[in-house]
Amino acid sequence: MFSEPCTCTGVRMTQCLNEGAYVMKFDYLIVGAGLSGAVFAHEACAAGKRVLVVEKRGTVGGNAMTELVEGIHVHRYGAHIFHTNDRRVWEYMQRFARFNRYTNSPVANYKGELYSLPFSMYTFNQMWGVRTPGEAAREIERQRKEAGITIPRNLEEQAISLVGRDIFEKLIRGYTEKQWGRDCRDLPAFIIKRLPVRLTYDNNYFDALYQGIPTEGYTQLIERMLAGAEVRLGVDFLQHRDEYDALADKIVYTGPIDAYFGYALGALQYRSVRFEHETLDMRNYQGNAVVNYTDRETPYTRIIEHKWFQFGLDAQGNELPRTVISREYSSEWRPGDEPFYPVNDDQNMALYRRYQALADREEKVIFCGRLAEYRYYDMDAAVARALELCDREFRA
Ligand code: FAD
Ligand code: UDP
Repeated sequence: MFSEPCTCTGVRMTQCLNEGAYVMKFDYLIVGAGLSGAVFAHEACAAGKRVLVVEKRGTVGGNAMTELVEGIHVHRYGAHIFHTNDRRVWEYMQRFARFNRYTNSPVANYKGELYSLPFSMYTFNQMWGVRTPGEAAREIERQRKEAGITIPRNLEEQAISLVGRDIFEKLIRGYTEKQWGRDCRDLPAFIIKRLPVRLTYDNNYFDALYQGIPTEGYTQLIERMLAGAEVRLGVDFLQHRDEYDALADKIVYTGPIDAYFGYALGALQYRSVRFEHETLDMRNYQGNAVVNYTDRETPYTRIIEHKWFQFGLDAQGNELPRTVISREYSSEWRPGDEPFYPVNDDQNMALYRRYQALADREEKVIFCGRLAEYRYYDMDAAVARALELCDREFRA
């Protein structure tokens, strides 16, 4: 069902057959056909440059890629909801796709008890029976005082001071320890600050002016970005470095920074995720796109039911008869796994800065993206960063 080659819409894509030296010379070699590489490729082509993109997977799109199964755009490497407050980025994305008006409102399942996410008046009402913002604020304050936290020093203390101990215990501790494989006291506070805390009845997961999902899927959007470039799939740059290095004047590298340097200073830590996809012969499995399992015992972190990202309808507006779900299992990255999340704690950040110093000396190479910059970039931040680098490169 989840075939390797992607359906291509006019991008010049070739599988690498290792047929010997390529003779054509390019201005830019872009390593990685994820969003960061695709934005850079598009801007370079628009500036009149000759661009070659190499991608080690058999598909473009990086982790945002989608594949059409049973009329459903399946987010094969995890659910991707585009959200941003940056109007330039939103308008930029509109050039490549039409977006629907999907708003993310996940449900948390704690041992069979259901709660709304993010932490809003709905959650506080479900947890404590409170009805007004004043009552919720007083309960949070009471629990914060009881915990005796003044300045939060880690994710656990940050969570308790934002939403109190009850919510921390039921909705945060188990999920976070599964997701990161670490105790909440050993994780940086910023991770939990990604989630809004609101004293309003608003369960939009994101504080974003603009939000949606491309109606024809991310793969098609990214193929449109890559339209002017030559794209070679199934090519691992690091395994053919000399050959590809010689092909272009400059390189934009979007893979893991430690891999680029052959792990010379040691390996950075990442979290990997295993996705278990299943097509079910039923219309509605869980009634929502995202259900998080926040207890420690359930082995997966969340189940995605992809059809709800498109309101249960196919491209013609007909109800979809079947459904596709994906369970996400988080694990520590080991060589050979896909790296998904950088672990931005103090120890890894110190090692990253040493790699960054090496990267600064690579005059021909631009390091760009979630893996190359070891940052927990959302898609909008990845696009903004790639555009910023393009501004420097082509419009300075
Ligand atoms: P990637 O998408 O990782 O692309 C890098 C590409 O480089 C990959 O295709 C890889 O195969 C290729 N590559 C690496 N090394 C080599 C090599 N040596 N040779 C050739 N190719 C190579 N963001 C949101 O805004 N909303 C969301 O809802 C959201 N959900 C997410 C869910 C999950 C599970 C994950 C992991 C991320 C999520 N993100 C989300 C973040 C989003 O995926 C990133 O912001 C975005 O993918 C960054 O794009 P990138 O191009 O920098 O990296
Ligand atoms: N989180 C949690 N419970 C949830 C959802 C998220 O404790 O039900 C925490 C968890 O630590 C997670 C962080 O909040 O890593 C950020 O969540 P987000 O949904 O932004 O994670 P991502 O989409 O990047 O996987």
